[in-house]
Amino acid sequence: EIQRALSVQVRKHPNIDLLEKHFAVDLITQHHLGMLVKRHLSDIECYGAYVLDLKTEKVIKILSKTTLLASGGAGHLYSTTTNPPIATGDGVAMVYRAKGIIENMEFVQFHPTSLYNPGETPSYLISEAMRGYGGILRNQLGEKFMNKYDKRGSLAPRDVVARAIDNELKIHGHDFVYLDNTHLSEKELKEHFPNITEKCASLGIDIARDRIPVVPAAHYMCGGVKVDMDGQTWIKRLYAVGEVSSTGLHGANRLASNSLIEAIVYAARSAKHAVQHVPEYQLAEQIPDWDDSGTTHPEEMVLITQNLKEVKQIMTNYVGIVRSDLRLERATVRLEIIYRETEDLYRKSKVSLRICQLRNLINVGYLVIKMANSRKESRGLHYNLDYPKSLDIKPS
Ligand SMILES: Cc1cc2nc3c(=O)[nH]c(=O)nc-3n(C[C@H](O)[C@H](O)[C@H](O)COP(=O)(O)OP(=O)(O)OC[C@H]3O[C@@H](n4cnc5c(N)ncnc54)[C@H](O)[C@@H]3O)c2cc1C
Repeated sequence: EIQRALSVQVRKHPNIDLLEKHFAVDLITQHHLGMLVKRHLSDIECYGAYVLDLKTEKVIKILSKTTLLASGGAGHLYSTTTNPPIATGDGVAMVYRAKGIIENMEFVQFHPTSLYNPGETPSYLISEAMRGYGGILRNQLGEKFMNKYDKRGSLAPRDVVARAIDNELKIHGHDFVYLDNTHLSEKELKEHFPNITEKCASLGIDIARDRIPVVPAAHYMCGGVKVDMDGQTWIKRLYAVGEVSSTGLHGANRLASNSLIEAIVYAARSAKHAVQHVPEYQLAEQIPDWDDSGTTHPEEMVLITQNLKEVKQIMTNYVGIVRSDLRLERATVRLEIIYRETEDLYRKSKVSLRICQLRNLINVGYLVIKMANSRKESRGLHYNLDYPKSLDIKPS
């Protein structure tokens, strides 16, 4: 409903030019004026973005007095995700490359119960309300395993349930567990969950008679581009709102349903702040056009698709719900190889959506690994077998 209402208003507004089928490639900063830009400097400014027109396949330069990123999450870092295909961490990667500040990337939320249906992307979400309604998690041996992990059983919080399922899958070498509703009233269950009933029925699963196969899926990125209370990033004239941003409001573990509220509040605050300050800025001059001389279309798409598969596998197997120092080290080494190959290919290639998304996912994967590595404890969504406890943090 938010998206529908917003789209209607945007299309009606006379001052808004809507560029559909355009993909932001990189932010424009002093770097594009030939100046040396270093990370964490306080005087980096954003002058707009280079944007790929997906129809003409040309990169255009869009200059702006202020820029706002609202590019969503990065669920496609992982093999199984509930996120739409656009969730490739583009905003985080662009800000990172522009030398802005990114934080809290180790806190990736996995939804415990997405429908196990290999090949379906995004994965279909089996709402937590179903467990609230009485659904019980069972492993493939039929055991109600949740009681082993938490006295709240199947009603334990998201991160606890996701970790427990992950452990059951690893112990037994299974691909999924079951959500069992067969003890509940068929009529009431189906009335209460008409969409899930219909979706499962389309796959031959009767939710009142069959157990539903479920797996955890990457769902929400708590970290992102660090912003203040007005959505300002650490790059001047650049705002970030929604899942791309890290406001700190979700801490290390987002409570369900808080992200849309956060996005709306920060969007309003950012817009207000930008409107107040825009008269102070001029459009930048002498920003060069995109230069793709000497580049060609990559001849083999497999160079991109294979690397993408590998990134997802590395992140899923080593940097997923449960991590360890060894897994993180392996992930670092393997991602580094893919990073080099992809950067080399990017330099030689005409820009395309797929290579940009791959490059962005590699940047974001690197940040998740780096931040996971530097947190020597387990907290919220970050769980490391080598440091299973949370460190005491005294409020400052
Ligand atoms: C299945 C599901 C259920 C959820 N349920 C809830 C819920 O009940 N309550 C809740 O609070 N949250 C929920 N969430 C989380 C919430 O929906 C998301 O966090 C939120 O929609 C993110 O909004 P956003 O505006 O930041 O990004 P998005 O809505 O993902 O929008 C990002 C936009 O940026 C565009 N974009 C991305 N990259 C580029 C680029 N390089 N160039 C140009 N455009 C780009 C995309 O095309 C897209 O239009 C759910 C998420 C999922 C996946």
